[in-house]
Amino acid sequence: MSFDVLTSGVGNAFSQRHWGTHFLVRQGDFVLGIDCPDSYRRALGEHGFQHDGGTLDVDDLDGLVITHLHGDHVNGLEMTLAYRRYVTDETLDLYTTREVADVLWDRRLEVSLGQTWNGEEYRSLGPGDYYDLHEFVWGVEEAIGPFNMTTRRTTHHIPTAALRIETDSTTLGYSCDTAFDPDLIEWLEDCDLILHETSPGPAHTDLHKLADLPASIRDKMRIVHLPDDAWELEDEVGLTFAREGEIYEVE
Ligand SMILES: [Zn+2]
Repeated sequence: MSFDVLTSGVGNAFSQRHWGTHFLVRQGDFVLGIDCPDSYRRALGEHGFQHDGGTLDVDDLDGLVITHLHGDHVNGLEMTLAYRRYVTDETLDLYTTREVADVLWDRRLEVSLGQTWNGEEYRSLGPGDYYDLHEFVWGVEEAIGPFNMTTRRTTHHIPTAALRIETDSTTLGYSCDTAFDPDLIEWLEDCDLILHETSPGPAHTDLHKLADLPASIRDKMRIVHLPDDAWELEDEVGLTFAREGEIYEVE
């Protein structure tokens, strides 16, 4: 069954023109976010994705996947959780790897979200006040609403998950942040649509490596995590860059 990919950010960590790479998958009423950069609500609002009779917002999320803890993928989490707690009064289903789960609260969120003032006294808060955590097991399929998701560890500075997001007949592949890795390409090869990253440096993928792939793979690839100076190369390398604000149908 087909589903939508709402492409909300296609930039890399240092982009001045684009949001950090993140997207949402939607089937019917079910919305699953994949990563959330700085000013996440503003990014969603800017694109004006329509959902349930209004503009898609963080209260429409049925779950959120965190691929890794670099800020361009996760800096929006703190305010997303605070908004859900203090404005819409609902916890969020969070999906991530064990490596992220092990440190997410203690080393990332507790310092800012772990205490609240109710006008009379300070109160300590814990992760359960904000989210329900679901840990992926590497390589094992996990059901999330209408989707089945499988993770594969990439070659990156810190533990990072590539994703296969599937319904019964349709699959989206996401490389996430990674050095160029032929085994990862093979893992993604049979997907109907592939989002693949690029950026400079040893822990990312050189655009020209992707340009050398067979047309059968390149044709279903949309490039994300783009540095600003890559855009002038799009025609030269023969790859298609993903566009912010686009909704791709995976079918
Ligand atoms: Zn990264």
